[in-house]
Amino acid sequence: MTIQPLQSPQEEEPPRQLWQTALTPWTSPILPSPASLSKARSSLITSLPTTGLGFSETKNHIANDIIPGFNGSSLSANYYGFVTGGVTPAALLADNIVSAYDQNVQVHIPGHSVATDVEDRALTLLLELFDLDQNDWPHKTLTTGATASNVLGLALGREFVLRAAVERKHGGANQEVRSVAEYGVAEVLPAAGLKGVQVLSTYPHSSLGKAAGILGIGRANVKSVCAVDDAREGGRQRPLEFDFQILERELARGDMASIVAVSCGEVNTGQFATTGIEEFRKIRQLCDKYGAWLHVDGAFGMFSRILKGHEEFDRICKGCEGLELADSITGDGHKLLNVPYDCGFFFSRHAALAEEACRNPNAAYLSAGGGDPSIPSPNNNGIENSRRLRALPVYATLVAYGKDGYRDMLERQIRLARSVVAWLLQHTAYTVLPGAQTEEDFLQNTFMVVLFRAKDDGLNEVLVSKINATSEIYVSGTRWEGKPACRIAISNWRVNEEKDFETIIRVLEGVAK
Ligand SMILES: *Cc1c(COP(=O)(O)O)cnc(C)c1O
Repeated sequence: MTIQPLQSPQEEEPPRQLWQTALTPWTSPILPSPASLSKARSSLITSLPTTGLGFSETKNHIANDIIPGFNGSSLSANYYGFVTGGVTPAALLADNIVSAYDQNVQVHIPGHSVATDVEDRALTLLLELFDLDQNDWPHKTLTTGATASNVLGLALGREFVLRAAVERKHGGANQEVRSVAEYGVAEVLPAAGLKGVQVLSTYPHSSLGKAAGILGIGRANVKSVCAVDDAREGGRQRPLEFDFQILERELARGDMASIVAVSCGEVNTGQFATTGIEEFRKIRQLCDKYGAWLHVDGAFGMFSRILKGHEEFDRICKGCEGLELADSITGDGHKLLNVPYDCGFFFSRHAALAEEACRNPNAAYLSAGGGDPSIPSPNNNGIENSRRLRALPVYATLVAYGKDGYRDMLERQIRLARSVVAWLLQHTAYTVLPGAQTEEDFLQNTFMVVLFRAKDDGLNEVLVSKINATSEIYVSGTRWEGKPACRIAISNWRVNEEKDFETIIRVLEGVAK
C-alpha cells in the first residue's frame, strides 16, 4: 500500500462518524470489559507491516478492535476518578480541525498563519476567565499539562532566585555567571554562595517533586511547611495550612534559595492552602523579604475564580484570592476547562526572565521574520520548539460557552459534590474527610472533590473496588492519614445534579449493605 497524493477531494473520506459518536451520551460500562480489553490488546499489530493495511482496513481495525478497549473516563458523566474533565462539543470540533490542518505553533510569523495569534488570544481569554489583568501576565503559554507548567514555574523560579542571590552576593557588581540557563546549576550555585534551591509547600501535587527532579533542584528539596498537627479531634481540618514560623525560618536560611509553591486546590481533598487575600499577602511579603519566587499550582483549583461574587461559594472563592500576587501560575486545560488531552497553561509576570530560561539559542533559520513583537516567539518562552495548535479547542470552548457557561458548569459540579457530602454525613456507614468539621463547614469547604471512607475497616479496605465493580460510577482510591480513602472528583461538563446524585447514592447505599 503506497501513500498516494490525493487525486480528488472525495478520494478518502475522513472517518467523521468515529469521533462524532463522542457527542452522544455514554451508555457502555465505564471501564471496558476484560474481554474487550484482551481482544483489543491481542488485536494490536505486532510488527511493522511491509505492505500496509491501507486506510479502510486500518479504520476498521481502530473502530472494531481498539475503541472497544477504551474507557469512559472523559465521555461518561459518572467517571469520578482523578480529575479528568471531559471534552465539550466545541472543543471536540476544534481539536479535530487542529489535527486536520496540523498547524505548528512555533515561530510567530504573521504573514504565514494565524496560529500564534489564536494561541495568544486563547491565553488572553483564559486570563479574562480567571479575572487576571493581562498587563500583569506578559508571559503566557500553553503546555501539555500542569506537570509541564510546574516545570516552567520551577525553572523560572530557579532562574530568578539564583540570579538574585548572585547579585546580592556581589553587590550588583559585574558578575558574569548568574544565569542558570546559560551556565548550569553547578556553576551558578558557588557563584551565589549557596548549597541549593528548595521548594516550600503544603501538600504539593506529586508533579512538583517530578519538576524538581527534572530541573536539578531535587525531589528531596521539596519540603513541607504545613502547620504542625493541632490534634483537633478527628484529624486535621485544614491540612494545607501554612505554618508561617516554619516558612519564615526556611526562607531565612543562608544556604538555600527558595521557591514557595501554593497548592491552590489539592487533589485528595479539593481544599486550598490559603483562606483569603490576607494570608496570600503575608506569603507575598515573606517572599519579597527573602527574595523567594512565589508559584501557584492552580491546576484545577484556580477555576474557582470563575465563581467570584457568589455567596454560596464564598469559602471556595477565598481559596484562590490573591493569585494575582504570584510570580507564576500553573493551570490545567484538560481538567475543568474540559478540552481534550493534552492541554495545560502557564502564566508569569516575568517575560524577560522567561526568555532567559527558555531561549532557543543560535538558530538563525528559526528567527522570526520581523513580525509583530506583541506576540513573542513561542520558541523562546516555553518548553517545546514545535507544538500542535492546542489553543484552538481552548479558544473554541471559551467562545462557545463564555464565562457564564463555565460558571454554570462549575456550580453544578460543586452542588452535586455538596449533595453527596450532605448525604454521606447522614449515613451511618460513612465518614467524610478531612477532619471532624461541622456539617456547615463541610458543605462550605467542599469544592468539586468528595473525600470519604467507610467506618467499617473491612469494608473500607475494599470500598473502592466494590464501588467500581458496579461499573455505574468510577472513583479513585487514595490514602488519607494513613488509611485507605475514596475520592469522588466531579469535573465533567456532562454533570447532571439530580440524575448523577441518584446514581451515586444508589451505588454507595448498595455497597454499604
Ligand atoms: C493534575 C494536577 C497536576 C498534574 O497535571 P497534569 O495535567 O497531569 O500534568 C498538577 N497539579 C495539580 C494540583 C493537579 O491537580
